[in-house]
Amino acid sequence: MTRLVLDVDTGIDDTLALCYLLASPEAELMGVVGTYGNVTARDSVRNNHAVLRLFGREDIPVMLGCEAPSWADLFEVDEGCARFHGANGLGNVDPACYLPDDDAAEVGESRDDTNAAHDAACDGAADVRDDRASAARPSVAAFRDRLTKSVGGERVDVATTAADAALADAAAASREGDGVRFIVDAVRKHGRDVTIVATGPLTDVDAAIRLAPDIVPNLRLVIMGGSLTQEGNCYDLICETNIFQDPEAANRVFRSGADVTMIGLDVTHQCLMTRADADRWRATGTRRGAFLADMVRFYINANEASDPIFLAGSPLHDPLAAAVSLDPTLVGLFDVNMMTETATGNGHGFRGRTIGDPTRLREPRKTAHVALTVDAPRFTARFRDRLAGLCAA
Ligand code: CA
Repeated sequence: MTRLVLDVDTGIDDTLALCYLLASPEAELMGVVGTYGNVTARDSVRNNHAVLRLFGREDIPVMLGCEAPSWADLFEVDEGCARFHGANGLGNVDPACYLPDDDAAEVGESRDDTNAAHDAACDGAADVRDDRASAARPSVAAFRDRLTKSVGGERVDVATTAADAALADAAAASREGDGVRFIVDAVRKHGRDVTIVATGPLTDVDAAIRLAPDIVPNLRLVIMGGSLTQEGNCYDLICETNIFQDPEAANRVFRSGADVTMIGLDVTHQCLMTRADADRWRATGTRRGAFLADMVRFYINANEASDPIFLAGSPLHDPLAAAVSLDPTLVGLFDVNMMTETATGNGHGFRGRTIGDPTRLREPRKTAHVALTVDAPRFTARFRDRLAGLCAA
């Protein structure tokens, strides 16, 4: 058995990663932390609850992670994320609408009322919100004229309003909140017998390390993020999206000494999901199969519209990281001490680029292991079959 904590910005491929772990008998999923990125952290928590409910795994705890990057007071989803993941992160498909009628009736929801169904599927997230709202914390943000907002990784300075100040205070509290503390506690308790799988920005992991530096020697991390040999996938095509959201956090994590397996675009762009995969899940004739097929149809359409190279299929970013956390033989790893550049135009690179760390080039211990090759046929077949099994169960 492999013990795991999943940290996600849920997200269609985050959902597929979560489902892959649910479908894997060798995975013991301790908890799911929802962070910002493809959606807000609160929407990620909502999505995690809803997906776990649909797949009958409400026993797995869901926590709220960081609500904004380490460098920003506030976070707003950018238009690009909504284009690939839908406004709700799940391709505008609502998992609650795929619950059996009995379950829908049980919570007194009309299946046409997607907002109410979402809320009902997200009791835990509502609790978290209530906790944040009721926590008596001195407001830092309220005393500043301007706040720094990240719009999908791009910096925007905004005049402080009372509403934004409240959100900024909640975001500041989230850096030491339940999700971050869950990661700290899991590593302190289980050491190297737990793997943290992070498929969003690295803000939560960075916050955990800053809160509890003692966890670093035992921190085993598998991330979806970065790119070493390929173009990036945002803006200037140099950066990968997860890293671009919080380059400072990624840089601190890479340079912390923690053991990081990096599943980047080098390999995820080799592992493609096709309409035939979705058809296979739909052919199970189950509500869960219909949910996955409907959700990924949005993702496949968006990828096809974005780049002709994705006419062959849509990249399985986050599911590959989940799969490698269980079976490292799926990839070939290149050991190197990595860093993330945090500034553009200073003669040293591009903010958000992942690259070898020249200051640690000669150090014998290499803390990062970057996947550069992948057995794509073996992984994609396993992915398709395991999810089909999960739908049919
Ligand atoms: Ca993700």
